[in-house]
Amino acid sequence: MRPEEKARIVEIVKIFRRLLTYSFHYKGRLFAGIILSFFVALFNGVSLSSMVPIFDSMGNSSSYRFQISMTKRDLQIINKRTAGEKLNTIDKIEWKIADYKTKINSHFASLGADEIVFLFVSLVFPIYILKLICLAGAIYFINSTGSMAIRDLRLEIYKKVQTLPLDFFVKEKTGILMSRIINDVDSLGKVISGDLKDAILDFFYIVTHLLLLLFLSWKMFFLVFFVIPVIMGPISGFTEKIRKATKNQQERLSALNGHLQEMIAGIRVIRAFGMEKRESSKFGGINQELMEKTFQGHFYHQVGPSIIELFGSIIAAVLLAFGAYLIASENFSKGMFLAFFMTLVFVIRPLKQMSMMINLVNSAVAAGERVFEILDSNSEIQNITNPKPLPAKLKEIKIDNVSYTYPGTSKPALQNLEINIKKGETIAFVGPSGGGKSTLKDLISRMIDPSSGAVYFDGVDIRDYDLKGLRTKIGVVSQEVFLFNGTVRENITLGKNYTQEQLVKAAEDACALEFINSLESGFDTPIGENGVMLSGGQRQRISIARGILANPEILILDEATSALDNESERMVQTALEHLYKNRTTLIIAHRLSTIQIADRIYYIEDGMIVENGTHDELIKKGEKYKNLYDYQFSTT
Ligand code: ADP
Ligand code: MG
Repeated sequence: MRPEEKARIVEIVKIFRRLLTYSFHYKGRLFAGIILSFFVALFNGVSLSSMVPIFDSMGNSSSYRFQISMTKRDLQIINKRTAGEKLNTIDKIEWKIADYKTKINSHFASLGADEIVFLFVSLVFPIYILKLICLAGAIYFINSTGSMAIRDLRLEIYKKVQTLPLDFFVKEKTGILMSRIINDVDSLGKVISGDLKDAILDFFYIVTHLLLLLFLSWKMFFLVFFVIPVIMGPISGFTEKIRKATKNQQERLSALNGHLQEMIAGIRVIRAFGMEKRESSKFGGINQELMEKTFQGHFYHQVGPSIIELFGSIIAAVLLAFGAYLIASENFSKGMFLAFFMTLVFVIRPLKQMSMMINLVNSAVAAGERVFEILDSNSEIQNITNPKPLPAKLKEIKIDNVSYTYPGTSKPALQNLEINIKKGETIAFVGPSGGGKSTLKDLISRMIDPSSGAVYFDGVDIRDYDLKGLRTKIGVVSQEVFLFNGTVRENITLGKNYTQEQLVKAAEDACALEFINSLESGFDTPIGENGVMLSGGQRQRISIARGILANPEILILDEATSALDNESERMVQTALEHLYKNRTTLIIAHRLSTIQIADRIYYIEDGMIVENGTHDELIKKGEKYKNLYDYQFSTT
């Protein structure tokens, strides 16, 4: 075996092992399913063996008597007993069995052939019912194990996804992520429920039925599994020939096609240079070959079925002849011969199915690889094990030489940023889109960690604080509003406890109260999937109300008012200005009219700070900020 094949198999085994660990959480069920599967195969084998006396008795009116064969040991032990020798415990059990056999045989001897047939036919029926019950049980237990395992896997991925680095959630990747959680997990589910059940059943069918075949006649067994494949050998060679001939024929045909095209396209050149003869003989060669290959293909195709038929009859003849020989010369009956063939049918199907499993395994492995890749990917933002205590009130934010490059990109989104922010300051960030402002927001709220440099809150790297605690201190209201399917109230409170007064006040400050009251059931109106019932401006005001109500120490507004018209923006703006007073506020703004009151303004372009100062200072400076300012006021 080549090393890469070996590696592949190791990989496959690893994935299946891992997949099955999810099933092993439900050991009891799985085990019950496996035991029942064994009984399904066993009962099938038993029902097949009872064909032996049925077929043997049929038509053998009075002369035939069915008997269970007695082994040498059986006879020995009976003799020992009749001779009055002392028997030990094992001997006693053996004698019991032998004695039982004798009794059954004497009962059988008293029955006519018709009665034997009737006895076994009435025995087969309950066995089939038992088999059906076991099968239903096996399907129930194995499939339910699989379904539960997949439910657990899906939940695990879901939890994992919530911790994945943000670059997983770029638009193009979202589809892939969804497909993995839905389609790939689904195909894994099929494998560890339905397919696993098939594999277990097939396995037991193969083992029990091969044993039965061996038991019925090891000579026939040898013939079927070792001699016949050798006889069949030439047939597979022949089908290969047919395949090749067809392929050759197609190749010649396309060569002919190519030559014709060349000749027609180049007819002027061919004539001008007198190349007709040479081209004709070339064509003649291809044409001749096409004729030969086509003929060969047709010949094999038409003769093929008869050849296969011939081999079929040879095999049938060999089997019948050998069977007849065995029946004549040995303890092998016609009933056993028939039972042998019926059993063979039951082995061939699972054997074939097993070979088809390979495809299933391959697709499951591919799906498994993709799913486990998600589970194994690092959560970019790791919570530290021994976090430093967060100060009750934060005094300063220091962004120290921070650079950030998105994974998979080469150009840094932010480069060597230096910013100091004191408690209570209002800081604005402006600049062209794509400059890196939203990236900066994600760094401060620790949605991402810097590629180099660090963000400090009160002199401590924010990676040393507890992540959850840190995030409760920061409220982000951004341009992308996320609303979930619930009521207005639920969307503003996010399930936390607030008084009605607090809620109303927040809605009022966000200029949202008026429209909320005009809704059918006010705060208790359901807003549909991601707020489909609301306009863009209304959605944004709900998200602002949410930010206001949470009352965070640090408020970050990332183009939070961009979806509002000028009128409502001015109104929300006044409300927000109250909020700025007693907290640290970072405003990322698009319209400069909203940030003139800021203590400091940073102009960010291409990931770098180009200018900073107060509004008046920057206007006086008369560069980028002023240009942007003039531009906006000339157009609005
Ligand atoms: P702004 O908010 O100033 O418009 P951003 O911070 O959104 O700018 O983007 C800064 C740069 O980083 C842009 O060049 C943008 O294309 C890139 N960028 C933003 N998000 C991602 C991401 N998830 N993966 C890769 N590149 C990104
Ligand atoms: Mg942005």
